Amino acid sequence: MIKLKTRAEIELMRESALIVSKTLGVIAKEVKPGVTTLYLDKLAEEFIRDQGAIPGFLGLYDFPNTLCMSPNAQIVHGIPNNKPLQEGDIISIDCGALKNGFYGDHAYTFEVGEVDEEIKKLLKVTKESLYVGIREFRAGNRVGDVGYAIQRYCEKQGFGIVRELVGHGLGKEMHEDPEMPNYGFRGRGKKFTEGMVVAIEPMVNLGTHQINQLNDGWTILTKDGKPSAHFEHDVAIVNGKPELLSTFSYIYEALGIVSDEEKEFRQ
Ligand code: MG
Ligand code: MG
Repeated sequence: MIKLKTRAEIELMRESALIVSKTLGVIAKEVKPGVTTLYLDKLAEEFIRDQGAIPGFLGLYDFPNTLCMSPNAQIVHGIPNNKPLQEGDIISIDCGALKNGFYGDHAYTFEVGEVDEEIKKLLKVTKESLYVGIREFRAGNRVGDVGYAIQRYCEKQGFGIVRELVGHGLGKEMHEDPEMPNYGFRGRGKKFTEGMVVAIEPMVNLGTHQINQLNDGWTILTKDGKPSAHFEHDVAIVNGKPELLSTFSYIYEALGIVSDEEKEFRQ
């Protein structure tokens, strides 16, 4: 069942989403060769608690940490460890926070030092596909419209869209209805209405869309060992249109990136 949110609830959800956004901004400053993902995880946990929030993933389905840290061929759900990041790596960082009874949940794939051109392109296309999908999240459209748009955009570049993991409704639960696949058919699936809040999160592979899972029971990685990217935003339908609750602006501030990509999704 889809749980619609009131305007007041959407504002509370914005607060939770922005705590995650700020956390990723703090982490962005620290992502560099030699740093361990476990160190970044501790920083994130401290920062989230300092905001009067609770890490959203820690203990959720028994996940052991605050951040999902998925380098290179890992797609999502990687567990932080003591292995230092290396020049040329990419690292997908997914973060959740719970405040006022509502979850925020979003993700960004960072470059560690200088990365290959084809990987830069993977990151660029994956992030662009997120906005292509968000543009379709409006009253009257359907779940399949978002998935179709993302899939088409990425497959045109020859990239693989992960099927087994999907975006989701967001609210008092981390994972609510509807499921938001990053593939699908126009006009299919549940219809979007005012007050829906979802996390849209394309997971895109440089090579095959097929996946494996490590025997830690968590880590999902590409079957062919090629890199994968993951970008995620929290979005509400307000006045019939997509309104971003999360923002990458804290990350961009930390990295010195100038971007107006989110402008069309602010009201
Ligand atoms: Mg997430
Ligand atoms: Mg999510």
